[in-house]
Amino acid sequence: MAPGQMASGLAAGRLTAAEIDANFDDLHPAYAPHEAAVAADRCYFCYDAPCTTACPTDIDIPLFIRQIQTGQPEAAARTIFDQNILGGICARVCPTETLCEEACVRETAEGKPVEIGRLQRYATDTVMSAGVHPYSRAPETGKSVAVVGAGPAGLACAHRLAMLGHEVVIYESRPKAGGLNEFGIAAYKATGGFAQSEVDWLLQIGGITIETGRALGGELTLDGLKADHDAVFLSIGLGGVNALRVPDENMPGVRNAVDFIAELRQAENLSALAVGRNVVVIGGGMTAVDAAVQSKLLGAENVTIAYRRGRDAMPASRYEQDLAASKGVRLMFNVMPVGLTGTEALTAVDLEYTQVVDGRVTGTGETVTLPADQLFKAIGQTLDGAPGALALEGGKIAVSDGGRTSIDGVWAGGDCAAGGDDLTVTAVAEGRDAAMDIHKALVG
Ligand SMILES: Cc1cc2nc3c(=O)[nH]c(=O)nc-3n(C[C@H](O)[C@H](O)[C@H](O)COP(=O)(O)OP(=O)(O)OC[C@H]3O[C@@H](n4cnc5c(N)ncnc54)[C@H](O)[C@@H]3O)c2cc1C
Ligand code: SF4
Repeated sequence: MAPGQMASGLAAGRLTAAEIDANFDDLHPAYAPHEAAVAADRCYFCYDAPCTTACPTDIDIPLFIRQIQTGQPEAAARTIFDQNILGGICARVCPTETLCEEACVRETAEGKPVEIGRLQRYATDTVMSAGVHPYSRAPETGKSVAVVGAGPAGLACAHRLAMLGHEVVIYESRPKAGGLNEFGIAAYKATGGFAQSEVDWLLQIGGITIETGRALGGELTLDGLKADHDAVFLSIGLGGVNALRVPDENMPGVRNAVDFIAELRQAENLSALAVGRNVVVIGGGMTAVDAAVQSKLLGAENVTIAYRRGRDAMPASRYEQDLAASKGVRLMFNVMPVGLTGTEALTAVDLEYTQVVDGRVTGTGETVTLPADQLFKAIGQTLDGAPGALALEGGKIAVSDGGRTSIDGVWAGGDCAAGGDDLTVTAVAEGRDAAMDIHKALVG
């Protein structure tokens, strides 16, 4: 049993298996062809399309929507995959409300954007569900590249390098590829084992070997990888978790949100997963929202997100906040944890009200106590296990354009690299761009 599941207030099966199945159903079900046609018809096919400018992978959005409108979803998928080989998962998980759909002129004019994410899903699903992989490899270059970490950044980098004719070996410490697509993203965003089927589909390009259970910092060293390969791309994500810094934060019932979510994503039977009756999630990002919503969907009675700043400062988008509220999650703002109560296991959490003075959060002295048999820490992830010789910036691996690190022959991208948002689509863009730079360095 995992830590945190020892707590006495936790129980499995708070809802029936049928209720849990319904709760974890696809958040945005796929369009039927006629729905896609109607949605595509709303696009103005803007010349200087602001939606494309807002997309971190620069997908030609009006072009792919036009291709859907004219009955060519396969061509639309190709337009998407040319820029973003993980366009399938991005269609499901991208916070479109703060990216392309926020920029859409129909959002600006009418408050109702073209549903770009769902159209992207329609196009990519058409090709992927047919098992068609629309790319082939260039003649072999004889060069070999090590990619460390099989998350979105590593997979995107590997695919582009393989396409360009290089041999790629991905070293992944977990037993499965996919990174947070497989172990982090909320279950209702990637239903039906989509993350693994996307990995299988991507590997059809050939030239990529994935070695799971192999960790840099374990038996693998950066020097060893450099000796065995012509270039190294680091895409190890953020494996560490920030501490709450309150006494007894390791007591039963207190757990890292990312560990709970990873367990949930790998669970074969969600109704066997224990959850508290009163759950408190500390944090304000996507991880906090996902932990809270999924606790509620498992049957927790009272779920509260406690965030130390005001609503406007919350990293989770307004859409995510509303999603949480619509599932019955309570959002508390301007509160921070100051104490945990419990002898054998957590029973309550003390929160102190906060104010922001000169940008800094300080306590007001006024407190409130919430009953809690489960508390999830979701206050940010940190870089863990990067080779010590690498220069860092703001706690992440420092990179220049194209993802070059301070060490010759070593590139980095995705969450572990400095700059950029910690989003799936950004990781894909950085992996792809690093691959192009590695290619340039290897073949001139
Ligand atoms: C709970 C949660 C929910 C999220 N929801 C969304 C969302 O809805 N939409 C969105 O756009 N973004 C979301 N994100 C962010 C998104 O998942 C990440 O930005 C993205 O996965 C980063 O990709 P990456 O390849 O850089 O890292 P990761 O996906 O973290 O992949 C890193 C890989 O490297 C492996 N690894 C780590 N260390 C080593 C080592 N030493 N040796 C070998 N392998 C190693 C890991 O096991 C992992 O497979 C979410 C994040 C979390 C935590
Ligand atoms: S901004 Fe909106 S209307 Fe204009 S091209 Fe993009 S999706 Fe179409």
